[in-house]
Amino acid sequence: MSYVLVLNSGSSSVKFQVVDPTAAATDAPLVSGLVEQVGEPKGSVTVKTGGEKFTEELEIPNHSVGLNRAFEIMHEHKVGPQDVELIAVGHRVVHGGQIFSEPVVIDDNAESKIEDLIPLAPLHNPANLDGIRTARAILPDVPHVAVFDTAFFNTMPQAAALYAINSEVAKEHNIRRYGFHGTSHEFVSQQVPGLIERDPAETNQITLHLGNGASCAAVANGKAIDTSMGLTPLAGLVMGTRCGDVDPGIIFHLARQAGMGIDEIDNLLNKQSGVKGIAGVNDFRVLHEKIQGGDSQAKLAYEIYIHQLRRFIGSYMIALGRVDAITFTAGVGENDDDVRADALAGLEMYGIKLDKEKNSVRSSEARVISTPDSAVKVLVVPTNEELAIAQKATELVS
Ligand code: ADP
Repeated sequence: MSYVLVLNSGSSSVKFQVVDPTAAATDAPLVSGLVEQVGEPKGSVTVKTGGEKFTEELEIPNHSVGLNRAFEIMHEHKVGPQDVELIAVGHRVVHGGQIFSEPVVIDDNAESKIEDLIPLAPLHNPANLDGIRTARAILPDVPHVAVFDTAFFNTMPQAAALYAINSEVAKEHNIRRYGFHGTSHEFVSQQVPGLIERDPAETNQITLHLGNGASCAAVANGKAIDTSMGLTPLAGLVMGTRCGDVDPGIIFHLARQAGMGIDEIDNLLNKQSGVKGIAGVNDFRVLHEKIQGGDSQAKLAYEIYIHQLRRFIGSYMIALGRVDAITFTAGVGENDDDVRADALAGLEMYGIKLDKEKNSVRSSEARVISTPDSAVKVLVVPTNEELAIAQKATELVS
């Protein structure tokens, strides 16, 4: 059997999986694991395989030390890169700018283009590059493929992709809507036509990726025509800790009236806002417990979250004209039947009828949860970004 090693490198962590690209979305990978606290005095490497978990604490001065140790631990259990037939290494890269609308085999030229895009993703692309350089050095004989979070949205029409900001300034600084979670929106939206027995070339759909980060997309006949995240992943829906769309004037107001610095505001809107900023927690399981216990802030956070979600669903229905499917995915979307019911409540006149019973069934399978006579089909489709990256990498190298 052939496998793909999928790497998602952050500034102080690396998530990895060894994936069979022909597996189902809900199958467990051969190996998954995490290198944590890179660059800090006490780091750790965790490897999970065959239902067991192995954790080791050690100093991890850089990504290379961490990944090498992870590969050694995997080898001890006969599932290291040298133990399996590894056909590619797939790297999740956050920002592909306007350069990459497809995955690419990484050579020095691709590496330097990803480096050129650092100003657009100053926190993510340098970490992704660290992971790429480290993995290419450790595994030089396997093709490495970059899969970009933004790529699926590169074909959006200009009216959706550009902001009404002074054109000269926007051009000079590459300011436009790029969108993120593209690998997930594409992976999920490609499964929908088969599940509702429609021709993919004639399927209009809305995909709702509701995890800790959250975004939605309007997809017409397989191509994204709009999405909620923007130049950065801060825009759009209310998220676990990010505010989503707010009046940009709030930033000036905070600077002038509250005397806050730009980094402070960045931290406030990215890490101390969203559901957590209102309810104090960002896990929806805990949020529901708090609501049930009568916590008014938790209720308010939930209501703001749903209100914003419905705004986007409504605007994408108009953008698409005809909607064949609305699909929920990611941690909240796949598991929270209250969110699904409240997001689509009272929309029968638009042809959206949720089947209450089907909605309340817990399952890890892709499924339709609307009534048979609902003109718009509603679905839950589990996402699996690692599998999607493995599939794309396989496609490119074979
Ligand atoms: P990430 O954006 O970190 O990849 P996920 O897609 O894994 O996030 O989603 C994580 C979130 O999913 C959690 O913070 C939690 O709010 C939500 N979640 C997970 N399981 C459940 C559940 N059973 N019910 C409701 N929400 C859940």
